[in-house]
Amino acid sequence: MQHTKSKALYEEAVKYIPGGVNSPVRAFKAVGMEPIFIEKGEGSKITDVDGNTYIDYICSWGPLLFGHGSPDILEGIQEQLLKGTSYGAPTAIEVEMAKLIVEAYEGIDEVRMVSSGTEATMSALRVARGYTGKNKIVKFEGCYHGHSDALLVKSGSGTLTFGVPTSPGVPADVVKHTLVCEYNNQEAVKALFEEHGEDIACVIVETVSGNMGLVPGKKEFLEYLREVTKAYNSLLIFDEVITGFRLGYGSSPEYFGVVPDMACFGKIIGGGLPVGAYGGRKDIMEIVSPCGPVYQAGTLSGNPLAMYVGKKTLEKLKNNPGIYKELEQKASYLAQGIRNNLKALDLELTVTQVGSLVCLFFTSGKIESYEDVKDCDLEKFNKYYKAMLERGILMGPAQFEALFLSTAHTKEDLDVTLKANYEALKVAYN
Ligand code: PLP
Repeated sequence: MQHTKSKALYEEAVKYIPGGVNSPVRAFKAVGMEPIFIEKGEGSKITDVDGNTYIDYICSWGPLLFGHGSPDILEGIQEQLLKGTSYGAPTAIEVEMAKLIVEAYEGIDEVRMVSSGTEATMSALRVARGYTGKNKIVKFEGCYHGHSDALLVKSGSGTLTFGVPTSPGVPADVVKHTLVCEYNNQEAVKALFEEHGEDIACVIVETVSGNMGLVPGKKEFLEYLREVTKAYNSLLIFDEVITGFRLGYGSSPEYFGVVPDMACFGKIIGGGLPVGAYGGRKDIMEIVSPCGPVYQAGTLSGNPLAMYVGKKTLEKLKNNPGIYKELEQKASYLAQGIRNNLKALDLELTVTQVGSLVCLFFTSGKIESYEDVKDCDLEKFNKYYKAMLERGILMGPAQFEALFLSTAHTKEDLDVTLKANYEALKVAYN
């Protein structure tokens, strides 16, 4: 497999863009490689500038639930485009979009659109602090909620890979109100609330963490978070940037039976266009400007193109509930196939799967928190990664990333992937 054109573009890119990329993980540094530059995507496949085609399990890190360029999602976008790309004024489609989210998500009465997941979580924290009048926030080790200052503490994927638990440039004063707890550890949360409960504005959590590989939240843990936040008049915020409309049309409340006070969205609700959203109960959201005093705004918020694609995505999901079963079956098939390969090769590695997300950890035993994943054999993973890429399988270039499946992935794609998985494991463990 040749990467001549990608290499040339990378050499040019590093002159003008830090590290040659606009988001760190794209640099492929964690796997000791250079980035591949993409020419186009179609369905489950992506093609690089050198003409190599891969089965794509990055799927833009989650937004592309129907794969690349899904014709029914994109139908009509040209007409929308010709009507203008942004107005900075309200549109009918924003109202329809908000209504779809509110009707789908239990506990959310109002929703505000923003342009990224980072903005969504950052704004939700501000609202939680404004609403409760408290300062501290609780997050979990290995959970990533975007790169806003207060949340960039022990925050998974990119920061795990690059070993930057708290980024330089984040003043200690800003993160002194960020309390970090072990994921899925009820006792640790209890202790934190006993000590600081009166000043905890909110707990923010990924119900299934997709930023330290794939670590499923336990139902009892989420139930406990619901209980303890209620008891201390703190808010529970679900960061559904990955899980929203992926675990099911009702997202985490439907999947786990736990209803938060607020939720943050991104990725799927924009179907690949820049988007984010945060929502909550009416009494909470009505403190947001212009109703209330908590300020939050955005030039491109509710962008008509993003709303167009997002709305079509949500409508398709709403009208075809069978999609979730189909995705789950595909992911189970892949996860089970990987487990079978591991067994055949006499390897003890752990595979996790939730809905359409899958992860192969280069470690064995239970996977419940960052503690359980931090000792993964990265050297072996990197060998495996390269061997997979050479066999035409594109995955997130780091151990701490999940595989994102889409409806576009076919059984043939999965079988090709499983064959590659068997061979690549052999390469890694030879
Ligand atoms: N929250 C979660 C759970 C995420 O996975 C991400 C990004 O991957 C974010 C927030 C930040 O979203 P964005 O990259 O759109 O700012």
